[in-house]
Amino acid sequence: MRASLTTWWQTAAILLLLLCSLCATAATPKGDWLLLPERVWTGDGDAAHSGWAVLVHDGAIAAVGPAASIQAPAGAQRVELPGATLTPGLIDLHSHLFLHPYNETLWNDQVLTEPQDYRTLEAAAHAKTTLLAGFTTLRDLGTEGAGYADVSVKRAIDEGLIPGPRLLVATRAIVATASYGPGPRGFRPDIELPGGAQEVSGVDAAMAAVREQAARGADWIKIYGDYRVGPDGATVPTFTPAELKALVETAHQIGRPVAVHAASDAGVRMAVEAGVDSVEHGYGASEATFKLMKQRGIAYEPTLTAVAATAEYFQHYVPGQSAPTERMREAERAFRTALKLGVTIGNGSDVGVFTHGDNWREPAAMVAYGMTPAQALHAATNVAAKILRQSQHLGRIAPGLAADLAAFSGDPSTQIDALKKPVFVMKDGIPYRTPDMTR
Ligand SMILES: [Zn+2]
Repeated sequence: MRASLTTWWQTAAILLLLLCSLCATAATPKGDWLLLPERVWTGDGDAAHSGWAVLVHDGAIAAVGPAASIQAPAGAQRVELPGATLTPGLIDLHSHLFLHPYNETLWNDQVLTEPQDYRTLEAAAHAKTTLLAGFTTLRDLGTEGAGYADVSVKRAIDEGLIPGPRLLVATRAIVATASYGPGPRGFRPDIELPGGAQEVSGVDAAMAAVREQAARGADWIKIYGDYRVGPDGATVPTFTPAELKALVETAHQIGRPVAVHAASDAGVRMAVEAGVDSVEHGYGASEATFKLMKQRGIAYEPTLTAVAATAEYFQHYVPGQSAPTERMREAERAFRTALKLGVTIGNGSDVGVFTHGDNWREPAAMVAYGMTPAQALHAATNVAAKILRQSQHLGRIAPGLAADLAAFSGDPSTQIDALKKPVFVMKDGIPYRTPDMTR
C-alpha cells in the first residue's frame, strides 16, 4: 500500500514537472519584434530597400516590406536602426572555432600543447565573438585535433547554454595516413603524435571513418584531398581515386555532403571527379577544372583571407604596403577565374587562421578581387544557404524563414566595408546585439 502511494506521488510529481516545463516554454516566447532600419537588403536582389521594415514573430520572419505596410501587433518591441542596413544573418562556410591565429600560437603548437578542454572553452568564446559580428551560421570544417568537441559546442549553442552561431560541424575531418600534421616529417620517429584529423588508408578504413564521424554528429564530411607530402614538400593528391570514391559515396549514402580541402589542380580535379560537394581553397585549380566544377554544380570557397593572413605572419607581407606574395597572386587568379566562369562561390574564410569576429575580411577580399559588394553579400547569405541545403530556412529575409538577421552601419550592398560595423544581431528571433549594447 505504502509503495503504491509513493508510486502515485512520483507519477504526479513527474506529470507536474512536465507541465511546468511546458509552462516555462510558453511563458518565455521569442516574441514580436518590429525592426526599423534605414534600409533592408533581403538577399533576393542586389539593391537595398529604403524605408522598409521587418516583423519577427516567434523566431521567424513574419513580414518584410515598406514600413507603412506592416501591421505590428500591440506589444511588439520596436528596434530603431537609423543609418543601418538590415541583412540576412551572415554565413561563413569555412571556419575553425577550435583554432586561433597562428601568429599567436603556431598550428603545430596549438594541436600539440593545448588541452582539448581549454580549446573547447576557447571555441565557446570564439562562437560568441562571431555571432556578435553578425555571423549567425558557420560551417565549422574540423576541430583540428580537438576530437568531437565541436558537437558539444553546437549542442550548448542550440540549448541556449552559450551564445553562438548555428553550427554545421565536420568533427575530426579525414586525411590519408601520415598526410597531415603535426609531423610526422620534422619530428623524431619514435614518438607518438596527436593527429590534426582522423587518418585512414584503404577503402574500408575510409568508409568506416565517414560512418563513425557521421554517427558522432558530423553534418558535413571534411576530407583533405591533397597536402604537402610530395618530394620537397610539394602539394600532391593524398587519397587514391578508389579511396576518394569510397569516402564520397559512403557520405552521400547517409546524407552527408563532402567538403574537400584541395590546393593543387590535380587535387581539385580528383575530388571533383569523385563527386564532392564543395572545394575549399582551390588556389592552383586550372580554368579547365573550374569549368568542370561549374558543369557539375560544385561550390567553391576561396579562403582568400587565410592566404593574406599567413603571408602577414610568415612572409613579412604588409597590407597596403608590400606587393602580394606569389601565393596571394595564385589565390587571386583562381578566384577571378571561378568568378568569370560563373562557378558557385560561397563565402568561406578559414577564420581561426585569423581572428574570430573578423569574418568580414573574406567578403571584403572577394570585392577587392572583382566581385561587386552585392555579389559578396549574396555569397555570404542566400548562396551560402543554398550550398548548405538550407535555402528554405536561412539566407534571405522572407516570411517563414528563421529570424537570423544582422544590421550594419552604412550600406554593405554598396560599400562592403560596412560589414565591419555591426549594430544589431538576431538569431532565431532572439536579439544578441542591439544598438545600446557596447561590444
Ligand atoms: Zn580550414
